[in-house]
Amino acid sequence: MAKRDYYEILGVAKTADAKQLKSAFRKKAMECHPDRHPDDPEAEARFKELNEAYGILSDEQKRAAYDRLGHRAFEQGGMGGGAQGFGDFGDIFSQIFGGAAGGGGFGDMFGGGGRGRQAKARGSDLRYEMEITLEEAFAGKEMEIHVPIAEDCERCDGIGAEPGAKVETCQTCGGAGRVRTQQGFFTMERPCSTCGGQGEYVSNPCTSCDGQGQNRIETTLDVSIPAGVEDGTRIRLTGQGDAAPKRQGGGARGDLYLFISLKPHELFERDGANLYCRAPLTMTTAALGGEVEIPTIDGGRSKVKIPEGSQTGKRMRLKGKGMSVLRSNARGDMYVELSVETPTKLTKRQRDILKEFEAESSQGTSPESDNFLDKAKRFWEELTD
Ligand SMILES: [Zn+2]
Ligand SMILES: [Zn+2]
Repeated sequence: MAKRDYYEILGVAKTADAKQLKSAFRKKAMECHPDRHPDDPEAEARFKELNEAYGILSDEQKRAAYDRLGHRAFEQGGMGGGAQGFGDFGDIFSQIFGGAAGGGGFGDMFGGGGRGRQAKARGSDLRYEMEITLEEAFAGKEMEIHVPIAEDCERCDGIGAEPGAKVETCQTCGGAGRVRTQQGFFTMERPCSTCGGQGEYVSNPCTSCDGQGQNRIETTLDVSIPAGVEDGTRIRLTGQGDAAPKRQGGGARGDLYLFISLKPHELFERDGANLYCRAPLTMTTAALGGEVEIPTIDGGRSKVKIPEGSQTGKRMRLKGKGMSVLRSNARGDMYVELSVETPTKLTKRQRDILKEFEAESSQGTSPESDNFLDKAKRFWEELTD
């Protein structure tokens, strides 16, 4: 394939001076920078071509050779190498852009594309796990929590350097925080290992933050848990997370998320706004009827009338005695499920009384048992037919 003319690639006249070359390169490079066209091999090819052209034309000797001999100047036996030495086009790019743009690097020119340190970093979100009781979920709760939140270091003002020490641009990546390597047709980009992707390093790190620029400070926060929260509720406290590192442009603070889980309760089980309570009944109360006192989630007690002959599994509704409902004055119901308890460890006299009771049993005392016996009888009869 015929190589395109370097001047044509840059879109400048053969008489263009260094300044014109540079500004043309900048403009074109921004248009087809791979950061802007991820996964577009054509843009990447154009970007490489552009770098090669600028690499040659910005070097006085190479430009003179090119002017005399054209592309032949850099073929085998010529000046050698062609674009070699410019293969890592990140280098040229950051020499020009990184240098010109000062500390911000070329990322700022691309409007913070969201890569490496170019993006204005937002502070990290924090997750705080919190376990509360069912009573607390019912009533809501104001409480203090202690969270280690990242703040810019006071000693170094978030720079990470000892007062007086300098922050230096990383030589390996030229301040970009990422390096490109070329393998055949593929260009690979990875975070710079020299500076850990920061694009810069501190020769004399701050002793307070160990050069990180931030420290985690145990912070006390007042939080309000609304009445009616459910297990798994997530509450976002906007802007209460980590501070954005000043070194990375100081964007917005992160958020703090409270993850609320509920402790299981000894007496109540919850289903949304409703509560369930299993209430054991003595055999005699179940048979004779009576009244039992049932605790309620608000700390009160409800008297529940037990009708004569109540069975296990019978459900009774206590209207409006359930959970509070989030952002509402409503309340769910409580269901009391009766469970008749068979007496154990009987005294001799109790046994005698029960035997006497059994002897006294009349038709209709235990309809369910009678019904079961009838069915069983029919079952055996049909088998023998
Ligand atoms: Zn510090
Ligand atoms: Zn680096």
